[in-house]
Amino acid sequence: MTFVTNDKVVYMDNNATTRVAPEVLEEMLPYFSEYYGNPSSMHTFGGQVGNKIRDAREKIAALIGAQPDELVFTSCGTESDSTAILAALQAFPEKRHIVTSRVEHPAVKNLCERLASLTGHKHRVTQLPVDRDGMLDLQQYEDSLDEDTAVVSVMWANNETGVLFPIAEMAAIAKSKGVLFHTDAVQAAGKIPIDLAKIPIDFLSISGHKLHAAKGVGVLYVRKRTPFMPFLIGGHQEKGRRGGTENVASLIGLGKACELAAAHMQEENTRVRALRDTLENGLLARTPHSMLNGHKTERLPNTTNVSFEYVEGEAILLHLDRFGICASSGSACTSGSLEPSHVLRAMGVPFTAAHGSIRLSLSIYNTSREVDHVLEHLPPIIANLRTLSPFWQTAHRGSVGRSGSQCGCK
Ligand SMILES: *Cc1c(COP(=O)(O)O)cnc(C)c1O
Repeated sequence: MTFVTNDKVVYMDNNATTRVAPEVLEEMLPYFSEYYGNPSSMHTFGGQVGNKIRDAREKIAALIGAQPDELVFTSCGTESDSTAILAALQAFPEKRHIVTSRVEHPAVKNLCERLASLTGHKHRVTQLPVDRDGMLDLQQYEDSLDEDTAVVSVMWANNETGVLFPIAEMAAIAKSKGVLFHTDAVQAAGKIPIDLAKIPIDFLSISGHKLHAAKGVGVLYVRKRTPFMPFLIGGHQEKGRRGGTENVASLIGLGKACELAAAHMQEENTRVRALRDTLENGLLARTPHSMLNGHKTERLPNTTNVSFEYVEGEAILLHLDRFGICASSGSACTSGSLEPSHVLRAMGVPFTAAHGSIRLSLSIYNTSREVDHVLEHLPPIIANLRTLSPFWQTAHRGSVGRSGSQCGCK
């Protein structure tokens, strides 16, 4: 088994996971070696760890405009999502309706679908549709809320396209109707400003490994006075809101990552955004029959999702891999199956385009040289794959040179 190391790749798959920032790793390491005490212990050796966790909690709260005691540490974004939705349903046992969208991450989508299919305690789930840009209709959303609705769960930023939902408006509408509001902010946190002091959100999910902290650590924000039931029942950790000994090193790292994210937010929205735009515009200009998936402006600064008609996303990824370029086709969770992603299907992306979609997601660690590298290699990969594609041949019969590294069509 040979390993491909970071210095050998152009990593543009940051919506799948991110590298742990060197500063974060440095903060974490002593908590595996010197300071391994249990933060719940009475002795100073353990107690000092508790103090450090308190610092981390404050840093994480500061990134999203929360109070430190409104945060519950979890094991991942998925646990945060499950905990929020199940807590909301338990708060209103007589209400059976959940409102969500068709483009949610599997952590929300599959849970809601499971709840709808469970026998004995049937929940009704409304999955709101999106338009061609991946946007929701706010009126349709408002109309979907009724007396029976217990909770709304919609993502802040889409992991496949980067499209942003109007969370502030949506949370205000839910509040006006007495419905609890959860948002999966796993992709939004650290990339765009979030101020929970200003937006009436009840539950918000974060995952460490999407913002340069470790894998296997997450946070659930629970607004003060929002009804809550723990998902993991056990010890008195997290004031009885989540049992289980804390993932100490990862939590401390997440605190540092949130501090760094706040410091880098400006760069994310200027330099990273400019790199993404250069990449996106270059790909669209150099490749005929290509299109952007997702709203042009209501979008995360780091994400682009482009479709190349008549080629297979998996084939593109294999060729990119030969040049050390890490990207994704659809979400990491749906690739491996032949179905195009549920997000692109919900947006009505045509079949021939949905199959050839590539997501490139950048971070502050990317450079313009790396963007040039992708722009140099990706368009010829598409042109070559098309010369081999029977669908392309049928659609553009006669217009394609057999030997061509450039396709003949305009
Ligand atoms: C990655 C991701 C999750 C899941 O987070 P994990 O920590 O991997 O469980 C949930 N929602 C979105 C939008 C994500 O991108």
